[in-house]
Amino acid sequence: MKRFKLGMLVGIIATCFLAVGFMAPNAVSAKMTFVTIGTGGVTGVYYPTGGAISKIVNKKSKVYHLKVTVESTGGSVFNVNAVMAGDLEFGIVQSDRQYQAVHGLKDWKDKGPQKDLRSICSFHPESVVLVAGDDTGIKTFKDIKGHHINIGNPGSGQRGNAIDAMTACGIDWKKDIKAEGLKAVESAKMLQDGRIDAFFYTVGHPNGSIKEATAGKRKVHFVPIEGACIDKLVAKWPYYAKAVIPIKFYTSASNKSDVPTFGVKATFVTSSKVSEKIVYAITKEIFDNLETFKKLHPAFGILTKKNMLEGLSAPLHPGAIKYFKEAGLLKYVDKALLK
Ligand code: GLU
Repeated sequence: MKRFKLGMLVGIIATCFLAVGFMAPNAVSAKMTFVTIGTGGVTGVYYPTGGAISKIVNKKSKVYHLKVTVESTGGSVFNVNAVMAGDLEFGIVQSDRQYQAVHGLKDWKDKGPQKDLRSICSFHPESVVLVAGDDTGIKTFKDIKGHHINIGNPGSGQRGNAIDAMTACGIDWKKDIKAEGLKAVESAKMLQDGRIDAFFYTVGHPNGSIKEATAGKRKVHFVPIEGACIDKLVAKWPYYAKAVIPIKFYTSASNKSDVPTFGVKATFVTSSKVSEKIVYAITKEIFDNLETFKKLHPAFGILTKKNMLEGLSAPLHPGAIKYFKEAGLLKYVDKALLK
């Protein structure tokens, strides 16, 4: 009897230890927790970026009791809204879209500032790409007038960049071009099939969709997005910077050298409602394993712990702050993000 009681006691203690004690200090909860990252089209760079994060974090799923899954979505604007609605826990979002959401601008003009949006870090740079058929006669940006162009689906990041560039250069996108609102994943085939003259895509390099668009039968080229009107646009907004499309990745395009344009950064966001433990675990795994992470996509080649803290405008999530403090990285953080 005594023995039986002792046995039971040990059993009970062991169960408690497994359920509560064992999860400390790293597990995010006693049970397995699932979180999802909103990305972009499957042929973009966001989708493999989400895949890289999940690969790194899921290696430790037993330690954290955390599984990260990835969802293909319509892009940046969709991701901000889904994270704010609680439909997704994380999203990859263009730095310009993050800024606009935080300040209640553009797509968030009616909804107002997205107060619960929190930043974690940034990833690769993205440039605004305009690919056109050589047979269209589109040589300079202003030549797009009168042409049939995919500017991107309403949930995407590129749509806003295309509209910004056109508006800055005196092109009325509703009247001066025939605008399509299709997802980027469809653009390459549409261009190759001659169903559109050109398309915009804001994306990191190298990228599969752009490779597909440049490697077909129809000869295509990148159209430089430059000039005084673009200089003014870049000077006006903190999130825009001059950029180039590195031609070495797209040797089948007709251009011979890097193509000037402007660009943004891909950033990683979440909501203030997501727990500190979850965000801490994900931040720690990405940063502690940065060299492994960088091998998962060639666009990550230039990433450093320092430049991954640039391009953010939403307050940092407390889970990210906790990790950056521990890792001695807070010195790279803009103090305005520590609210
Ligand atoms: N920048 C694009 C967007 O925000 C997505 C690019 C990608 O999927 O890599 O919609």
